[in-house]
Amino acid sequence: MPVMVDGLRMPAIVAGDVALEICNTRAAWADYGVTGVESHEYLHSYEHVAVWARHAGLLPDLARAGAAEGERVLRRVLEFRRAYYLALTGGDPDWSLLSRYAREYAPGLRPTGETTAEWDYGDDAERPLRAIVHQAAGLLASPGSTEVRACAGAGCGWLFRDPRGRRRWCVMAVCGNRAKVARHAANHRPPA
Ligand SMILES: [Zn+2]
Repeated sequence: MPVMVDGLRMPAIVAGDVALEICNTRAAWADYGVTGVESHEYLHSYEHVAVWARHAGLLPDLARAGAAEGERVLRRVLEFRRAYYLALTGGDPDWSLLSRYAREYAPGLRPTGETTAEWDYGDDAERPLRAIVHQAAGLLASPGSTEVRACAGAGCGWLFRDPRGRRRWCVMAVCGNRAKVARHAANHRPPA
């Protein structure tokens, strides 16, 4: 479900855990790698990553990068996101890639000041990547990772925290309704 932020199309924030939101920057995970499903991707440029990181609450302000560096960071964010998504959904992630990212981008990060809610992610172009990897590593290392569920909506796959095992949809009004409409259509199809 898109919302507009700073003139860019961004995913709604629905996961109930800031560490999971990066997984919801694309939809239709089952179609990953299939060409022609471009509209399911939200992160098209470094600017999208920077605006999204602030929108999701990972960074307090906009990260900036030169063109070449921005492109490199974007590619890394997408590479890490794919392995992280697989790790959370019982897939077959590249664990050595995940651990390489954790070592490189989230080694011994510290809170910046009085509160533990703010972390020192540096001030260069890699800030969003550090924030993403740090949050992800924290979730993967915690019992909370067993509370992660994927939306049951066709072509969705967004993730959210579901501690009580009752939630089925990322957004009831979107994926829940779509499923209801599809069921209704199937039940009222004229006999062949
Ligand atoms: Zn959904």
